[in-house]
Amino acid sequence: MIELPQQEPCEFCEGMAGRDPTWAVIDESVHTITVINPSQYEIGQCCVITRRHAATLLDLSDDEAAAIVGAAKRVATALVRKYQPLGVLTFQNNGVYSGQEVPHYHYHVVPRQPGSDWGIGPPQLAVFESAGRIQGTPHDVSGDEERRRRVQLEASELHEIAAAIRQHLPD
Ligand SMILES: [Zn+2]
Repeated sequence: MIELPQQEPCEFCEGMAGRDPTWAVIDESVHTITVINPSQYEIGQCCVITRRHAATLLDLSDDEAAAIVGAAKRVATALVRKYQPLGVLTFQNNGVYSGQEVPHYHYHVVPRQPGSDWGIGPPQLAVFESAGRIQGTPHDVSGDEERRRRVQLEASELHEIAAAIRQHLPD
C-alpha cells in the first residue's frame, strides 16, 4: 500500500488559496496549475500540479493525467526558450517510499544546466558528472544544510522567475 506523506494543511492547497507568498504561478489550465518550486536547485525548476487535491498518479482522472503532460510540454518549451538548458528532466513521486513530500499530485519539470548542484536531489541526478560531484563517488552530506538554505529564494525572486518563464510560453 502506498503511504502518503502527512501534511496538514496541504501546502499546494494553501498556495492556491492565496496563503503562501512564495506561490508563483507560471501557467494555468482547466485541470492544472504550473508553479515555481520554492527550492531552486536549478533556476526555473517548477511543478505542474492538479487543481484538485489528488494525492498520486493513481488518483488522477484520465483528463487530469492528459492535462499534466500537456502543461509540462508547454512549460518545458518556455524553459528551453528562456534558459537554453542542456536537458529537461521530468519526474514524479508517488508515496513516501518514492520520495513524495507533499500529498498533492505534482509533476516536476527541471531545466538541467552544467555544474548545477543536485547533491541532495533525486539520486539519478546526484550522480551526474558536473552535477555537483563526480559519478561514482559517494554523496558527502556535510554541505546539505547549507545547500538547502542556498536554494530557498525570496518570494520576490520566485515571482520574477515565474514572470520571466511566462513570457516564453507558447501561444
Ligand atoms: Zn492539496
